[in-house]
Amino acid sequence: MRIDVPHLTQALQSGDRRALARAITLVESGRDDHRDLALKLLAGLDPARQALRIGLSGTPGVGKSTFIETFGLMLTARGLRVAVLAVDPSSARSGGSILGDKTRMEMLSRDARAFIRPSPSQTHLGGVARRTRDAVRLCEAAGYDIVLIETVGVGQSETVVAQMADLFVLLLAPAGGDELQGVKRGIMEMADLILVNKADGDLKSAAQRTCADYAGALRLLRHRPQDMDGYPLAMTVSALDAVGLELAWDRMRTLADWRAAQGIAAGTRADQARHWFRHDLRAEMMALLTRDPALAARLATLENAVAAGSLSPAAAARAALAPLTVTPQATAAV
Ligand code: GDP
Repeated sequence: MRIDVPHLTQALQSGDRRALARAITLVESGRDDHRDLALKLLAGLDPARQALRIGLSGTPGVGKSTFIETFGLMLTARGLRVAVLAVDPSSARSGGSILGDKTRMEMLSRDARAFIRPSPSQTHLGGVARRTRDAVRLCEAAGYDIVLIETVGVGQSETVVAQMADLFVLLLAPAGGDELQGVKRGIMEMADLILVNKADGDLKSAAQRTCADYAGALRLLRHRPQDMDGYPLAMTVSALDAVGLELAWDRMRTLADWRAAQGIAAGTRADQARHWFRHDLRAEMMALLTRDPALAARLATLENAVAAGSLSPAAAARAALAPLTVTPQATAAV
């Protein structure tokens, strides 16, 4: 890949989809020289270009792709440009990325106002998270108004998506019984909107019951500072029949506008930036310690000593970091 960063930046910001795809490939690359170029590219993007970032989570089969297709088409019909990204740390394990299947979102993928990108294939969630964050920025710079970040909710992936989204939407299916489908409390606590999908045909009344159950459960949760009155809320939709999607969008917008007016949206993004700074710092530190063969060997020795019980984990961690310890003179420049 021959990369001319200024040219790529210009093409990307003029809305060239091929340039966007190439830029995402660049930020996904594991090569050190690509990483340097990617950082240069990201640093040169217009910071004023921002999108509404919507995280969307739901177990397989709940209707995420159907929802993204109809919801996305509704948004593009309104003249909005929509990008779809995915965080799927399981893609390497299951042998196929959740967005890799070309039959998913067939109409949306042909829509000139939409851009769909499969999840980078990586087993390591931290790696997927960083690449997806970079891709969000690239989509924003390319002029997309809405960035949908989808996850199947494997392990910690919901938390990762919530930490990079302005709004977090949980998609659920109608429950058979009257129990709350075993949705973990921690995930409910992250949700701004719960959409009970498949509220159509035979499933309609079950969806309404499920929705009422979740509305009740949401009322029992602790109030968060980012909650507008009446939020988080639960509502029914049918992704298949495109019912309730206009209302769901209206609810999302209302909340996003309120948070922007209160200064909450900017505060959340600042908190997220701090979170990812610490996250990247930890990753960079590990990379520094393992890249150099001598340091890597030292790390292995320390690890063996910890395993053998001759050194405590805390002492070993400190010893591992000793080569990175900087002198006061070195920090004076900051
Ligand atoms: P995903 O795995 O979460 O992406 O789910 P899909 O979008 O692939 O949908 C799984 C199945 O549920 C498919 O057979 C869809 O046709 C069906 N489905 C999705 N949304 C709806 C809906 O609103 N109503 C009904 N009845 N079926 C739906």
